[in-house]
Amino acid sequence: MFDDLKGKRVLITGSTQGIGLAAVEAFARAGAKVAMNGRRTPADLEATLARLNGLGGEVVFLQADVSDSAACGTLVEAFVERFGGIDVLINNAGGLVARKPLPEIDDEFFDAVTDLNSRSALMVTKHALPHLKAAAAQNGTTSSVISVGSVAGYTGGGPGAGLYGAAKAWLHNIQKNWVAFHTKDGIRFNMVSPGTFDTAFHADKDEDTKARIGSGFPMGRFGRPEECAPTFLFFASHACSGYITGQVLDVNGGQYMP
Ligand code: NAD
Repeated sequence: MFDDLKGKRVLITGSTQGIGLAAVEAFARAGAKVAMNGRRTPADLEATLARLNGLGGEVVFLQADVSDSAACGTLVEAFVERFGGIDVLINNAGGLVARKPLPEIDDEFFDAVTDLNSRSALMVTKHALPHLKAAAAQNGTTSSVISVGSVAGYTGGGPGAGLYGAAKAWLHNIQKNWVAFHTKDGIRFNMVSPGTFDTAFHADKDEDTKARIGSGFPMGRFGRPEECAPTFLFFASHACSGYITGQVLDVNGGQYMP
């Protein structure tokens, strides 16, 4: 189904675990050339890469803290040096940083949350833009930028997650500007907006709490990272979504219906 992803060059930020890692695995199975990125080098990197490289594609690891704008540029350069260009960028790195209600928010926390969730995606996209444009011109189809939003971008976020929700809403919004001004470059911009997925993001909750929260969703449970991965393949594949841009696909088990 995703035959045109074979050999595509895919950079996925924040992909050493959770939703990002499931995406790395899905693209590797589709025969793509993938860079897994993390802020730190995982302890089991060699074994992880050996496993991932047995799936049918080619996977490398590129360390970079994408909340640092200079590192975003270096990450893109390292990717292009390795694979010769970029066909697909997935802005997945993100997280709560911490839960802080309004009275506890200071400049340092504001910067940490927005740098990780908003500025990182903008800076990596900025540096990737000329490469995505060149790839689209070269292959006569489209390149694809897929950012990861959140249900919190609509709802405003749970306790202490207001800044996080706002940073994701910012992403949902700025994508519209990128579509308006860079579609002419052959680049499509779409967003995957997860609901509540069982990853380290919810490490502050025990299993009973997760089951209780999940039972309140129409699907009756949290999502699993591998259930989000095919949506990235869909938006990356020109054959599947070549006329789709500027959209937000909600993968949330019915938790929220915008
Ligand atoms: P996770 O904590 O399991 O994974 C986050 C990944 O980001 C990790 O690989 C980590 O190494 C990486 N990362 C964190 N800071 C980084 C930095 N500064 N530079 C580079 N990499 C960094 O979380 P997840 O649930 O897999 O989240 C993935 C994305 O999905 C995030 O953008 C998150 O906001 C979003 N999301 C998650 C949920 C959920 O319920 N899990 C819901 C909505 C949105």
